[in-house]
Amino acid sequence: MNFTDLNLIDPIAKAIQEQGYTNPTPIQERSIPEILNGRDFLGCAQTGTGKTAAFSIPILQNLAKKDLRNNKNIKALILTPTRELAIQIEENIKAYGKYLPLKHLVIFGGVKQGNQEAALRKGVDILVATPGRLLDFIAQGIISLKNIEIFVLDEADRMLDMGFVHDVKRVIKLLPPKKQTLFFSATMPAEIQKLADSILNNPVKVEVTPVSSTAETIKQSVYFVEKEDKLDLLTHILKNDISDSVLVFARTKHGADKIARKLQKDNITTEAIHGNKSQNARQNALTNFKSGKTRVLVATDIAARGIDIDELKYVVNFELSDVSETYVHRIGRTGRAGAEGTSISFVDGLDLLNLKNTEKLIGMKIPIVKDHPFHTDNLVAQKRDSNNKPAAAGGGRPQSSGNSSRPKKKPASPTASVGFKKPKNKNFTRKK
Ligand code: AMP
Repeated sequence: MNFTDLNLIDPIAKAIQEQGYTNPTPIQERSIPEILNGRDFLGCAQTGTGKTAAFSIPILQNLAKKDLRNNKNIKALILTPTRELAIQIEENIKAYGKYLPLKHLVIFGGVKQGNQEAALRKGVDILVATPGRLLDFIAQGIISLKNIEIFVLDEADRMLDMGFVHDVKRVIKLLPPKKQTLFFSATMPAEIQKLADSILNNPVKVEVTPVSSTAETIKQSVYFVEKEDKLDLLTHILKNDISDSVLVFARTKHGADKIARKLQKDNITTEAIHGNKSQNARQNALTNFKSGKTRVLVATDIAARGIDIDELKYVVNFELSDVSETYVHRIGRTGRAGAEGTSISFVDGLDLLNLKNTEKLIGMKIPIVKDHPFHTDNLVAQKRDSNNKPAAAGGGRPQSSGNSSRPKKKPASPTASVGFKKPKNKNFTRKK
């Protein structure tokens, strides 16, 4: 299918063409005609599937057909969990709507409200918002939702993960009963399904790329390495194996800063983004990374959620998350819209259980790369405490394997094989 088959109005067709899109993605193929017809929509899709355009394009077209002169009401509300996602959605709306007279605005917390408030008072057709700031403005009487015609709930499962479901429900209660609702979630846990059932009216349901599947275009690998060698391994691959930009995922804010400091010390341009950084600092870091000024961006999961960087070729998981789905979201930052991508995961004893769970979720074993100076065959599965340290189960670090001294930065033996000391809990072992 081609975009020309979707009966888009000229100003939108032209803007899309300028974006370089020729064919709609599978979710766009399904969503655009249905949303244009006024149907409610349930999209089970993660970022990277083109879901933003899947709802933005028909919203723009539906609103463009109305006579909105002298109408300052907010007509479409898009609720999304993070500032970064909110900004990116508005950037997309701006791009697709560049030849339309519709007014759009993004609001989020963590910055002064003055500019956002001034823009709201001038009148906005499409509002992209995070829940906290939206409720703030509503409480102050600056925003009213009573004229909303189209409501989009984006990344509903992430709203749940981040503890925003209560806020989302408060927003939903303030919406008029008669409206079109578009609901997007990468996964459908029971609570999200219940929420969807409660607000959607006979929706068209479309599921694309279930969360457990990873894009075929992404080359995945794991590197077995002791925890204390991970920083050196990162520098090693950045200096020897990869010349492109790299997005590195860290479990904690402190960890992200530590990685950034080490790489800077090694003369690799690096910035970190996480919740303790100001909104401006995060935005600048993102801009520098996108423009190539900074080669490495180190991010925590929440800060990186939905970051949309065209042509990002490399993602490094410095640690694996306890939530296996996070792996899919992380590596989905690369290999977008069919481009080739590579994901590298550093695995130490603390990551072994997460590796096992991740492989179960994605239904495949991730190949191990041994050809690096920090490879070890002696990892022992350990549980992690909340500080990213080995949990003191039974009073101490689990025993190391027979070869207790870790390999000293020597090239891996070509004959080396993955041999784990059998941990007490057999579920911790990696099946060969
Ligand atoms: P999303 O899933 O909305 O985060 O979009 C993922 C990426 O795909 C973004 O960089 C979009 O600009 C891009 N994209 C969206 N739709 C298309 C399309 N039909 N053709 C090519 N790229 C697209």
